Amino acid sequence: MRVVVIGSGIVGSSAAYECAKAGANVVVLEAGRIAGGTSAVSFAWTNATTKRPRPYFDLNVAGMRAHLELKRDFGAAPWFTQTGSFDWRTAPEAMDDYFENYRQMKEWGYGVEWIDKKLVAEMEPDIDVSAVGDGPISYYPEEGWVDPVLYSAWLLRAAKERWGTQVNVSSRVTEIETEGGRAKAVRTANGERYAADAVVNCTGGWSSQKLGDAQGIPLSSTIGVLAFTPPVALTLRSQLHADDLDIRPDGAGRIMIHKVSVDLTLKKPETLSLTGDEAATLLEAASKVLPSLHSAGVEAIRTTVRPFPGDGYTCAGPMPDIPGHYMAVTHSGVTIGPQLGRVVADEVVRGKIHEEMETFRPQRFFQANAQRSGVAHA
Ligand SMILES: Cc1cc2nc3c(=O)[nH]c(=O)nc-3n(C[C@H](O)[C@H](O)[C@H](O)COP(=O)(O)OP(=O)(O)OC[C@H]3O[C@@H](n4cnc5c(N)ncnc54)[C@H](O)[C@@H]3O)c2cc1C
Repeated sequence: MRVVVIGSGIVGSSAAYECAKAGANVVVLEAGRIAGGTSAVSFAWTNATTKRPRPYFDLNVAGMRAHLELKRDFGAAPWFTQTGSFDWRTAPEAMDDYFENYRQMKEWGYGVEWIDKKLVAEMEPDIDVSAVGDGPISYYPEEGWVDPVLYSAWLLRAAKERWGTQVNVSSRVTEIETEGGRAKAVRTANGERYAADAVVNCTGGWSSQKLGDAQGIPLSSTIGVLAFTPPVALTLRSQLHADDLDIRPDGAGRIMIHKVSVDLTLKKPETLSLTGDEAATLLEAASKVLPSLHSAGVEAIRTTVRPFPGDGYTCAGPMPDIPGHYMAVTHSGVTIGPQLGRVVADEVVRGKIHEEMETFRPQRFFQANAQRSGVAHA
């Protein structure tokens, strides 16, 4: 079976790896460089906390498990770090939700414990625990993070070496060609044509684009901003989540900083100044928690699109307009990606339907005129 995967971010590389493993002849077509889209600018925290309702929580947990299984498959996973997260709130108005989330996560069997400041100070001496406030601190030992570009590089390398997958960069797909109403090939801006029995659309924040007659899906994407410090002499290993602030190590002593209120100031991805308001806000907020960052400055600040399908939830399954066109797009794609790859391979290559994905089908966006179509396996 010939499968063309469009896009090589964490979702596309997962889909390509799993489809190739399932026995398909896979070609990946990427408009830019490997994982150079949203996956290159992601906080990339693997987690399921606060993810509701239950099917979405379960999908995220399945993603976390799939990361561990991939690590076992590869023997080592140079892209994956699992050192746990601390989470706390200082804003009184946030406390009810915070406690309710803890209760819900416990009830659903998710790994979380209350932990006191003394232990936090022992585990992570770089933290100024006075910034934590007086509320309880939750600790999530099973959470971690991924370097998504490395993830894609390793999975695509393995797919090439083990199963002969072809990966073409600078290959923007412009059209999904049909024959008898079914996807039969894709065409690229370079004038190339790739025959396909199934086309898996993993274009993330670009998945609203029409590719010839093939529809996209409605998106409600937002913008994400990340700041990176230069290497700083810290021994921080865990992730820190405090109100709307997220902090984690990013290798070689660099610290990655994210804050939702800064994301909300932007309407589109922009080139931001290292000395601008956004960088200053992010550094100042992080410095309150990690005082050694005060004089560090910001070495890089990046923005990109957060790919949210129209209702905010994962969209995975056959597109109702063109049989053979399968969509796989989601926020939290770093957490969910490896599981989504397995779902794609099962449904597209093995013909094995995942009933638990029923609420995530693209059809929900096309209810008015959608006809029920079969899953895109040949
Ligand atoms: C600031 C920020 C923080 C985040 N934090 C987290 C987090 O903590 N945890 C988490 O799980 N998720 C997080 N996310 C979300 C996560 O990063 C995304 O869900 C994920 O990276 C999406 O991966 P993708 O492969 O679908 O998309 P992308 O990585 O964008 O890949 C899509 C690819 O498709 C290519 N493409 C587009 N159109 C075409 C075409 N016509 N032809 C060929 N190629 C094409 C693009 O060039 C791109 O490389 C965060 C996102 C942001 C922005």
